[in-house]
Amino acid sequence: MAISPIAMATRQPLPWTPLVVAVDHCKGCELCVAVCPKTVLALDRSRVNLLGYHPVVLTDATACTSCALCARVCPDAVFTVWAAPREEHR
Ligand code: SF4
Ligand code: SF4
Repeated sequence: MAISPIAMATRQPLPWTPLVVAVDHCKGCELCVAVCPKTVLALDRSRVNLLGYHPVVLTDATACTSCALCARVCPDAVFTVWAAPREEHR
């Protein structure tokens, strides 16, 4: 379905996040949870992904430093990490 020009013009931008999680690729091994220096990753035990696992979630986006340690240890390339925007672009 196409999005109308009016809907495009009035659409609110999504809040910036340092981490995008491909939820349905996660197998819940918790390697990332163990390595995160800010302890802002946890399994979401309230849901199950397409693979049948509780997927990992970022619990506090403001505390994440974009260090990318989680992405380096994840065996399934679940994370996309973004550097924080520069002050002049905020
Ligand atoms: S980028 Fe670093 S601080 Fe952010 S969730 Fe991953 S390991 Fe934790
Ligand atoms: S390391 Fe990857 S597969 Fe394991 S829990 Fe974290 S995101 Fe999921």
